Amino acid sequence: ASASISSSIARRLEGKVALIAGGATGIGKATAKLFAQQGARVVIADVQDEHGLAVSNELGGSSIASYIHCDVTSEPDVKNAVDTTVDRYGKLDIMFNNAGIAGSPQWRIIESEKSDFEKVLSVNLLGCYLGTKHAARVMIPTQQGSIISTASVASLNPNGAPLAYACSKHAVVALMKSTAIELGKYGIRVNCVSPAGVATPMTTKALGMDEEKVEEFMAKHPALQGVKLKPNDVAQAVMYLASDESRFVSGLNLVVDGAFSIL
Ligand code: NAD
Repeated sequence: ASASISSSIARRLEGKVALIAGGATGIGKATAKLFAQQGARVVIADVQDEHGLAVSNELGGSSIASYIHCDVTSEPDVKNAVDTTVDRYGKLDIMFNNAGIAGSPQWRIIESEKSDFEKVLSVNLLGCYLGTKHAARVMIPTQQGSIISTASVASLNPNGAPLAYACSKHAVVALMKSTAIELGKYGIRVNCVSPAGVATPMTTKALGMDEEKVEEFMAKHPALQGVKLKPNDVAQAVMYLASDESRFVSGLNLVVDGAFSIL
């Protein structure tokens, strides 16, 4: 009886190895914490070295978590992050492509700047492309893996989002669908998570408000009626997609938005 009780409370990511690109703050940081609590070993890849190192130390040091500098727009950096994860922890089970930037708030095409468009597409789309490519490279020989990219409610409907941002997030879903079809035969599942507005450094900067004000602002939407979406709510959805509980779920854009996008 005690064996069945202990197996029913087993941690949900026990023994898994995860790489989280854009894990130094916000949604990525919340996901790193939840993954580690649930038994995964986690590599945080980011360009904010101080924040990334602080998160990996908080999670318990190198046997559980570590940090690697990685600009997701650089193929050598992404290749190195994936290979270093496998060197350090023996394999890669979960790739979370979460790095992202808001870019300029501009949504009018004539006033938009090509340089901003390129920068946003480069981090938000190319970053997911490179992460998916190099994760698949090491997952295919093991015939298993879960790749998750962070899209957004702006992947469904631009709804006032900046032009470049909405384009990048729509394209992340196309990348996810194409690769889900291709990689299924290797036992690799590919999905997206699409949050509504969450108070993180990205949104506080973009909106010029502190976290509390951002939460209040987002929660004013009639579908949300004051309910505040937290980074950990998104992390819980990512954990489902990362775990074996979703073993038949692939090609899904899992929307975490309290009905925001259907209203
Ligand atoms: P955040 O700014 O806290 O996190 C983004 C992380 O990505 C940061 O740690 C940042 O340093 C990192 N990053 C940026 N450029 C990078 C690069 N070139 N290489 C490596 N890392 C890089 O913001 P967040 O809100 O937690 O964003 C996480 C993801 O969630 C993004 O993809 C964002 O578009 C998406 N998202 C956020 C919201 C929201 O309201 N906060 C809503 C929908 C989707």
